[in-house]
Amino acid sequence: MAPDEEDSGTRMADLLGRQRSAFLHDGPPGLALRKARLARLRAAVLAHREALKDAVSADFGNRSRHETDIMELACVVQAIDYLSSHLRRFMKRERRHVHFFYRAARAYVEYQPLGVVGVMAPWNYPISLTLVPLATALAAGNRAMLKPSELTPRTSAALRRMLAEAFPEEEVAVVLGGPEVGAAFSALPFDHLLFTGSTQVGRKVMRAASDNLVPVTLELGGKSPAIVARGHASGRTLHGIVYGKLSNAGQTCVAPDYALVHEDDLEAFIARYAATVQRFYPQGPGSPDYTSIVSDRHRARLQGLVEDARRRGARVIEVGECPIGVAGRERTLVPTLVVNAGDDAPLMQEEIFGPILPVRTYRGIDEAIAYVNARPRPLALYYFGAEDGDCARLLARTTSGNVGINNTLMHVAQDDLPFGGVGPSGMGAYHGIEGFRAMSHARGVFVQGRWNFPGLLHAPFGRLADLAAALTLGKTKAPSP
Ligand code: NAD
Repeated sequence: MAPDEEDSGTRMADLLGRQRSAFLHDGPPGLALRKARLARLRAAVLAHREALKDAVSADFGNRSRHETDIMELACVVQAIDYLSSHLRRFMKRERRHVHFFYRAARAYVEYQPLGVVGVMAPWNYPISLTLVPLATALAAGNRAMLKPSELTPRTSAALRRMLAEAFPEEEVAVVLGGPEVGAAFSALPFDHLLFTGSTQVGRKVMRAASDNLVPVTLELGGKSPAIVARGHASGRTLHGIVYGKLSNAGQTCVAPDYALVHEDDLEAFIARYAATVQRFYPQGPGSPDYTSIVSDRHRARLQGLVEDARRRGARVIEVGECPIGVAGRERTLVPTLVVNAGDDAPLMQEEIFGPILPVRTYRGIDEAIAYVNARPRPLALYYFGAEDGDCARLLARTTSGNVGINNTLMHVAQDDLPFGGVGPSGMGAYHGIEGFRAMSHARGVFVQGRWNFPGLLHAPFGRLADLAAALTLGKTKAPSP
């Protein structure tokens, strides 16, 4: 197939059939083969580094090459290295406790590969959100079919080309297409399906998967708050928030969506935000390190959110000016603060996914906790301030995906931490041993010993069996008739 040709339902079903037959024919791969597959993926990523960076930048209009290196390619290589070096431990049979009665027996858990894993990816980090799930699937001994996003067509085609060189289709296959192909893909009877994308599409994917009882991991989105403690609108805090908000121009699932700032610190926060943006991007939004918005439609939606908030009376502060008449930079969107927009503004209801930061003020930590708890559980929660007191209360009284204290985004780069949301922001997790286990089947095995108590009973009923039951249940009087 041509690297950019859309796939049909028949081809997808055929690929799944071939991968499943190959899996059953070859049996579960051992440690050496899994490591070899990971090494092949690593080598492919490094060999295609420049091509992938070019493709993703062309898809975005402009994507900072540093961002692609650090937030995509380095993440993938780091995840592969982590998985390779911990794989022996992850794969190890786990001894489990057996009850006193069965002491001469043994019990253990074995983590088996599931078979074929489906991976559906969004456009915002089109390389890492396709390849880290792939590396996890391979580490767990599976085959994989990938469906990257249609909104980054050059990157998706480059991934297909790269993976076709590195793996036979019976091991790893890439299918291309938009929502229709996505719908057909999510209806395939995979052994596991990992979907990364919006909550709205996640619902459809889970519905389709449920017809085949395919277990899902859903990595979704939402509005992740950044709460700044009183007196902490410092340079260090703003460094963390600006980095999280403007990397990839805010098109990051775990970007701080909005900030809750103590009312005494509002003006200091605004001034330092602007100063930090200027320090990060001295050439302004025209800087080659400031990423563009992925499509005209997404840019128009973001502008609409700001204009709506302005009309409703919110204070809007733009930091810098967009480049005018520069080829490839037409979809740049200026970093923007929106102060005290009302709860009814769509800006305060929808996931923003762009370089716009609404700032709301609060007076005490319980007000901030109530604000977070009145909304869907977020994918990430950020707190800037001392780690005890209010921070401990916030963590105890809220539920979210991962937490960052005095920083943003960095929790995602910790390979040993599980990554996933809760409720509307996701279901299940990957990264760490959690990812390996999500794509494995934990099979419990009980091995009968030569001598054990039930064996001595000779018959399943009688005096000895009654004694055994009494040891566990205590002596009970039979109810009188
Ligand atoms: P999306 O849900 O629109 O698309 C994701 C994938 O689903 C794409 O491959 C797309 O082709 C496919 N798809 C679209 N419509 C479909 C349908 N009806 N049936 C089946 N598949 C369909 O998401 P997006 O716009 O590409 O990405 C942005 C969203 O992803 C944001 O909400 C963001 O928060 C979320 N996200 C989450 C994470 C995470 O790790 N939790 C990471 C990145 C992005």
